[in-house]
Amino acid sequence: MSTFYPFARPLYVMAKAAGPLCNLRCQYCYYLEKQHLVNSKKSPSSGGGMERGLLEAYVRDYIQLQQTPEILFTWHGGEPMLRPLSFYKQAVSYQRYYGRGKRISNSIQTNGTLLTPEWCQFLHDEGWLVGLSIDGTREMHDAYRMDAKGEGTWQRVMDSIRMLQDYGVEWNAMATVNHANVSQPLEFYRFFRDELHCQFLQLSPVVERIRRHSDGRHLAQLFDEDCPLAPFSVKPAEWGKFLCDIFDEWVRHDVGEMFVNVFDAALAGWMGAPPGICVYAEECGHAVVMEHNGDVYSCDHFVFPQYKLGNILTDGLPQMVYGEKQTAFSQLKKESLPRQCRECEWLKACHGECPRLRFMHTADGEPGLNYLCAGYRIFFQHVAPYMDFMRNELLAGRPASNVMQGL
Ligand code: SF4
Ligand code: SF4
Repeated sequence: MSTFYPFARPLYVMAKAAGPLCNLRCQYCYYLEKQHLVNSKKSPSSGGGMERGLLEAYVRDYIQLQQTPEILFTWHGGEPMLRPLSFYKQAVSYQRYYGRGKRISNSIQTNGTLLTPEWCQFLHDEGWLVGLSIDGTREMHDAYRMDAKGEGTWQRVMDSIRMLQDYGVEWNAMATVNHANVSQPLEFYRFFRDELHCQFLQLSPVVERIRRHSDGRHLAQLFDEDCPLAPFSVKPAEWGKFLCDIFDEWVRHDVGEMFVNVFDAALAGWMGAPPGICVYAEECGHAVVMEHNGDVYSCDHFVFPQYKLGNILTDGLPQMVYGEKQTAFSQLKKESLPRQCRECEWLKACHGECPRLRFMHTADGEPGLNYLCAGYRIFFQHVAPYMDFMRNELLAGRPASNVMQGL
């Protein structure tokens, strides 16, 4: 019998209420092609999403297994707003019933095109946090984020942001950095700061490779070799320069006012603190994914049969999350680092980034180097003096924003 140590780590599940279904057809999406895996051809409004019985079991188990004072539910997709609002109202009533006074919070990650005043009222009244996907200006966003008719979605997303702001809903921006926006870092950054008045910006570099599989998938998995880079991907040096350019703007004007996930994580790395994003952590795998049918997978980027941990209705969340299989997945991030990473001066902040991008070889031929390594080295080298300064300020009990003085 395997040994597991429940609650050694927080229990965190991203729930896919509508499965991988989505009303958009973003060209770089890695999740749309999961439909074959979870057999979710039925529309969510006609019962294709998570069933109520499963919803109740999930909410009950998730709450009962947590020993933290606050419990966070995350609704993810596909597009979770394809499920009717009544589904989420039901989820909230289960949370109240099983939570019995515990503090419960919710966040929902959406493409923002299905938002209505009724949704906004609900989000405001229940205090949900909205993560909204937008890739920058109209030109940047519409390059890849289109609907099923092939039309850009920027205007609809902008209307939704204004609606969220009108209703006082807390939101943050999730932006991919891709071939269409990576060469315009300042225009990109200032759009979020000056036009959207966005305080929390989450950046995610797009890197995918193409490989046509017999089951209809077209994106490569980690161990597929000799696959060409998808044209919407960023290249390592572009990513490094992009981060440096927006960092220079941020460090002069916006420290303590605007929060950019990559910069926050880097500073945490300098401080020896957990970075808050799995990709820069020493180990990962703390956030599992639950599909709409109850199947649980190791990570949002590893929804493949070999990474299935079980089903919530039959296998038990703690056994899956703290069991041998997921523990091995968590440790792989650290244990599979090539020597170049283990000896790297930036390891404290990078930790080899995400294993899904470790499809390169090091200079001496060792496999497992992250594709974006060269970009990260440019970035960490560039920010090191500022990070040193901010770390010292924080250690002395002063605000990191002192770094802006005299720049
Ligand atoms: S594999 Fe990558 S995305 Fe998945 S948990 Fe690990 S670092 Fe995060
Ligand atoms: S910068 Fe490159 S060598 Fe250094 S830890 Fe990151 S991926 Fe590894």
